[in-house]
Order: sequence, then C-alpha cells, then structure tokens
Amino acid sequence: MPTSKEEIRRKYDLTDEEFDVVEALALRPTCEHCNKALPPDSLEARICSFECTFCATCVDMVIGNVCPNCGGGFVPRPIRPARNWKNGNYLSVIPARKVPKHKPVDPSVHVLFSAEIRKIAPQNR
Ligand SMILES: [Zn+2]
Ligand SMILES: [Zn+2]
Repeated sequence: MPTSKEEIRRKYDLTDEEFDVVEALALRPTCEHCNKALPPDSLEARICSFECTFCATCVDMVIGNVCPNCGGGFVPRPIRPARNWKNGNYLSVIPARKVPKHKPVDPSVHVLFSAEIRKIAPQNR
C-alpha cells in the first residue's frame, strides 16, 4: 500500500495538478462512446462509480446502463457550481478535465459482456 502522497501520485501517474484535484470528479469533457461534448453544466452526462462518462442517449440506447469498463450502472453527473458560493469550491478553481477519453464501444462485444449483467439491478451487481 502506498503510504505517502508522493507514492500515490506516482502509482496512479498523476501530475501535480491532477493530484490536487483528485478528490473531485474529473468532469470529463465528452461521451466516451460518441464523443458528444458534455460540458460541466450538461444535464446529459452520466457517470459510473469510476466516472466512466457517457451521454444519456448512449447509456440508454447503446450500453443499456451497463458500464463497458466495470459493469456498474450510471447516474446523472452532478453539476459543479460555476460561482464561488463557498471556500473556492467551484469550477474556476477546480476545473473540468479538458482531455477527452474517446473509446467507442463495440456493440457486438458489449452485447455479450452485458447480457447477464443488464438483468441485475445496479445496486445488486
Ligand atoms: Zn454518447
Ligand atoms: Zn465504469
């Protein structure tokens, strides 16, 4: 187990900037499947517990609420405040990630992967 901040930073290959915001959601900029823009104030962004990020349409129509990376379900991504309501906990201080992760799902592969999982409610997976 890593014991120091430096070890954790190295283990997960985080830049100093990433490490500083590691407690906050990354707010990834696009849908991993269709690459649609999902800005921080998007109501269409959906995330799994690992913050795999897809648009609502892809979650419903393409991956059937089964994360292709972990098998978990999705929930709407919270909106980070755009204004400094308290203690600098807002978008300008802790900005959304800028680098997209575009890794389209192969539907034929996902059908097989998700066939059994999708029958199980996310809270029971
Ligand atoms: Zn999408
Ligand atoms: Zn996931």
